[in-house]
Amino acid sequence: MSRSVLVTGGNRGIGLAIARSFAEAGDAVTVTHRGGEPPSGLSGVRCDVTDMSSVESAFDEVESTQGPVEVLVANAGITRDTLLLRMGEDEFTDVVDTNLTGAFRVAKRAAKGMLRARRGRVVFISSVVGLLGSPGQVNYAASKAGLVGMARSMARELGSRGITANVVAPGFVESDMTDELSDERREQILAEVPLGRYASADEVARVVRWVASDDAAYVTGAIIPVDGGLGMGH
Ligand code: NDP
Repeated sequence: MSRSVLVTGGNRGIGLAIARSFAEAGDAVTVTHRGGEPPSGLSGVRCDVTDMSSVESAFDEVESTQGPVEVLVANAGITRDTLLLRMGEDEFTDVVDTNLTGAFRVAKRAAKGMLRARRGRVVFISSVVGLLGSPGQVNYAASKAGLVGMARSMARELGSRGITANVVAPGFVESDMTDELSDERREQILAEVPLGRYASADEVARVVRWVASDDAAYVTGAIIPVDGGLGMGH
């Protein structure tokens, strides 16, 4: 059965792979984008997750074209890496505003329709760094750890209405975000990854699709690592 799927930040990177994966499975998929054109073959809606009125109008548009959102993937995210003593308050709050409060804004709006339908799937894209910590990423790690508490609280609040809320925590994935890392940092990271390589965005997408599927109907409040073993033990 085709479902109404919304992927924030689905215009590129991991979000795009996730969106394409749902579309290939026959779902109606819209991605949010902030500028330019949506990716070919996918519906797009303009949305900035730091702005609740933008989130509201994006959902209104999605609802009018493909119906209430049944699967929400809160994927939009940014980094502003720097060491703690150099990190300005705005570098902290900007990252939290996009990665954590942005996810809250879209999840809250999506929950309205899901509660009415008495079913729904919310998937938050966190990071191995949220549990492991990472030098230079105090802001990012805090935002990604916050998603865990949010998902688990939602799982408890909404579970009786057939809505699941889960966290997918990728490790290092080939993407624009990791292209920015220095060669030295890449080598350090790979030395720590038991599988000895980065993930492809498709490998993350397949896990997201699974946790949003009927096969995962009894999975909620879970953190599902897709990290090649990097975060084991956390
Ligand atoms: P990219 O930088 O390639 O893409 C980020 C996406 O988020 C873009 O679509 C971007 O839109 C969107 N976005 C950023 N800010 C906003 C905003 N305010 N409103 C709406 N959309 C916004 O990142 P990745 O694909 O690598 O990462 C996707 C997610 O996966 C992120 O949450 C990231 O933290 C997480 N992750 C990534 C890992 C990696 O190794 N790459 C590892 C672990 C987690 P635009 O194109 O307009 O900038």
